[in-house]
Amino acid sequence: MSIARAAELVARARRGVALTGAGISAESGIPTFRGEGGLWRQYDPVKVATLENFLEDPAQYWRVARERGPAVLAARPNAGHVALAELEASGHIAAVVTQNTDGLHRDAGSRRVIELHGTGRTVQCLDCGVVESRGDVQARLADEMPPRCAVCGGTFMKPTVVFFGEQMPADAVAQAFELARDADLMLVVGSSLVVYPAAEVPLVAARAGVPIVLINAEPTPIDDLADVVIHGRSGEVLPEIARLALVASGG
Ligand code: NAD
Ligand code: ZN
Repeated sequence: MSIARAAELVARARRGVALTGAGISAESGIPTFRGEGGLWRQYDPVKVATLENFLEDPAQYWRVARERGPAVLAARPNAGHVALAELEASGHIAAVVTQNTDGLHRDAGSRRVIELHGTGRTVQCLDCGVVESRGDVQARLADEMPPRCAVCGGTFMKPTVVFFGEQMPADAVAQAFELARDADLMLVVGSSLVVYPAAEVPLVAARAGVPIVLINAEPTPIDDLADVVIHGRSGEVLPEIARLALVASGG
């Protein structure tokens, strides 16, 4: 019932916007931060992902990355990522705004992707500024801890993601709010919606009268605000919504 209602809204949409969080990549094998099996139960994020601690001892971050990085780099998009790319290609959604740093939306074929927290696919030397691929740096971790810059030998190789205590990229945040205001549908997928500014994006849409469809494995603080709430797995729910929407719109 709610899937059919969500599909109707998607079929009518011409500039929908999807806001995604770690939940959309869970079925690709990348653990979420919060909730069951969440990473925060294993690692203290304040130790591994704050700018202050990174600057004090980058090896703290890279020791965790040596263990966790290979699985993230090997992850492939799942049916949920693919469904969003199809909805963009068929003209129903205009953009994906994501909190994720895994790059899987682009891998799935999404073209307009706003990465609020940067990308984990590259690493930047804080001494000379050179940018290297994550895969290259990751490959050196067996011999170098922390990894050294291939150009200047610096030991502050920082992934191009937004750490705690760092500013969010202002242009990405501004684009996300503008997209939300101008949208004719907001899809919120796989986010616990407790981190600013991601949590603010659907509120901006709601204030502009944009209908909201929310898909998440468990309840979120904005369930009451959404027109349609589906508690389920995005890799199962999104393809079904996309299929029905494309049938309804003759696509
Ligand atoms: P979160 O971990 O706080 O919340 C994830 C939400 O997804 C939870 O509410 C959970 O119930 C739900 N969920 C889990 N599996 C799901 C599924 N199969 N289908 C639908 N929903 C599912 O994630 P967040 O809100 O994105 O915030 C955490 C922060 O951590 C983000 O800012 C992000 O930068 C970062 N992060 C990124 C990745 C990634 O890039 N894949 C992974 C972990 C954390
Ligand atoms: Zn350097």
